[in-house]
Amino acid sequence: MESIKINAIQNLRPEIDPPATEPRSFTPRDVGCQFGAGFLDEGFCRRWILSGIHGAGQITCPKCRVPLSDIALRRFWEGRRICCRACGKFFTALTGTFLGGCHMDFREVILLAAFLHFDIPHREIARILRISPETVRLWDIKSKALERVKGMMVITNA
Ligand SMILES: [Zn+2]
Repeated sequence: MESIKINAIQNLRPEIDPPATEPRSFTPRDVGCQFGAGFLDEGFCRRWILSGIHGAGQITCPKCRVPLSDIALRRFWEGRRICCRACGKFFTALTGTFLGGCHMDFREVILLAAFLHFDIPHREIARILRISPETVRLWDIKSKALERVKGMMVITNA
């Protein structure tokens, strides 16, 4: 009787918790249920967003226009808060940009933009990013307005 019990446990075990030496699998559903900003590389998202917004031009204080020093410049590209030595203004690389005061980290901004581009339902975006559906709706409106402005700029430059 005792040996039957042990066999039953041994037969069940590989499905519940296979040994680490055996490869395991996951399904798209597993990824979908767990998916969020944590899957993305923060540094890559930050560099992509900040280089897109600020380009290769000189970086200056948004208030007094004094160029940033080496340390302040490093902090700027790291997305950290800076205090201008000349005028005392506190700012970040997002201050005064269309992302100013958005309360999302760089990975969340990228996810939101990608989800809107791929027409993921707003309620799903809201769930994954833990923001309200209304916030998603407002960003959708804002991003469509930005698309129109970009389209007009392309036409104007052509
Ligand atoms: Zn300043």
